[in-house]
Amino acid sequence: EQNVDKLQGYLARFREGGIANRIAGADRAGGAGVFQTCSPVDRSVICDVAHGTRDDIDAAAQAASDVFADWRDMPATERRKILINVAEAIEARAEEIALCECWDTGQTLRFMSKAALRGAENFRYFADQVVQARDGQHLKSPTLMNITTRVPIGPVGVITPWNTPFMLSTWKIAPALAAGCTVVHKPAEASPLTARLLVEIAEEAGLPPGVLNTVNGFGEEAGKALTEHPLIKAIAFVGESRTGSIITKQGADTLKRMHLELGGKNPVIVFDDADLERALDAVIFMIYSINGERCTSSSRLLVQDTIKDEFEARLIERVNNIKVGHPLDPATEIGPLVTEEHFNKVTSYFDIAKQDGATVAAGGETVGDVGYFVRPTLFTNATNDMRIAQEEIFGPVLTSIPFSTEEEALAMANDTAYGLTGYLWTNDLTRALRFTDKLEAGMIWVNSENVRHLPTPFGGVKASGIGRDGGDWSFEFYMEQKHVGFAT
Ligand code: NAD
Repeated sequence: EQNVDKLQGYLARFREGGIANRIAGADRAGGAGVFQTCSPVDRSVICDVAHGTRDDIDAAAQAASDVFADWRDMPATERRKILINVAEAIEARAEEIALCECWDTGQTLRFMSKAALRGAENFRYFADQVVQARDGQHLKSPTLMNITTRVPIGPVGVITPWNTPFMLSTWKIAPALAAGCTVVHKPAEASPLTARLLVEIAEEAGLPPGVLNTVNGFGEEAGKALTEHPLIKAIAFVGESRTGSIITKQGADTLKRMHLELGGKNPVIVFDDADLERALDAVIFMIYSINGERCTSSSRLLVQDTIKDEFEARLIERVNNIKVGHPLDPATEIGPLVTEEHFNKVTSYFDIAKQDGATVAAGGETVGDVGYFVRPTLFTNATNDMRIAQEEIFGPVLTSIPFSTEEEALAMANDTAYGLTGYLWTNDLTRALRFTDKLEAGMIWVNSENVRHLPTPFGGVKASGIGRDGGDWSFEFYMEQKHVGFAT
């Protein structure tokens, strides 16, 4: 109740004025008018949003280009200070960000309040790297003083998806700004609210106009124009694998540098020697938190046949107790899925599972008929070649598959187009070493759920992406190496 009242207060200004594009520190109406963003909780319209076009992207790219040299050349300590101010301002408005995000995306408050603070942490972490980011090396040869330095690549485009949009946007934008790049951000059309809050917060915290610009709109229009714009030197993209291929083609004519963080069908492998209680907690957390709308979710459970019956029985009991409900209720664990289209996609797998011969052991139903709610779902009696084991469903839906030997588990774990994360549960150290060495994934956790540590590399292999974020890897993407040789 209290949270709903607060939300209404925060939404009032959006209802009244809508969301404009933000270019060079000023509001700009969308070239194609407006579109509407709706809440998945009750399908109500939240507000009008600027429908950005190629012209809007052009204006934003020009603005980012106009101020690039000033931002690049600002003393690192000053840029650092501004980014710290942004982090503090995010913390000060974390509640507003979390409530708006929940209403716009259907994510639950219990997870989004943490995600808003992670956004602040992203700014703080990369702010602290600003001063060293350009440090280079001196590689002396007999006849030359060889100096290498790093310089920001130029204005960049950031294209983000609708799942945890605030946190993901900061994950891309903070290092770009820290590197000395200026940014044009195209947020997902399904979740524009918190991208607007971010640009506002950043400007109020002292980010000069034009350093961060936000253009709302659709992927095939505004997004496409951004990937094709000659003033934009690189694109940091988070979204579906299919979209990653499309934007790579779109960026080819202007030779864009691309960083792609894409989909996953991540395995969690549970051996019978594991701590099963902890494994159970982690399996549940990694697929049923954040509505299962999470690229790193463990959506395939590979469980050793010796413990399968017991593990699945305990899983079913726990899954049936997960609370589906209003995302602003602090007790809710699963809120509605983000859009009608996505709801239709996720629920279509309930039939697909049955047609392919799997068992719906828990869930497999929708909840109510107003919002896009589904029950947390578990499929059992599945095989790894089924669609429910191969395709990214991106909802609170887990497919359980038994295995008998380590070799079989490894073959199944790798038998997927994707390779983002893997989770391994075993108390046999040498098996863990063997297995992780052969598992095809960009990130693996052993006896742990996914715990992000910002200095470590984040990214996937195979259809899960190209490139890494985190630590200095982010700067490698947003900067160019420059070599200068002086004759001695
Ligand atoms: P999506 O690919 O449909 O859209 C992502 C963004 O790309 C949106 O802003 C969209 O407007 C834009 N876009 C779409 N077509 C475009 C085009 N032709 N040119 C330029 N931009 C275009 O993805 P989504 O449905 O919003 O997000 C869910 C997907 O994101 C899932 O596959 C998920 O696994 C993935 N994801 C990956 C990571 C990761 O780190 N690997 C993190 C979060 C989400």
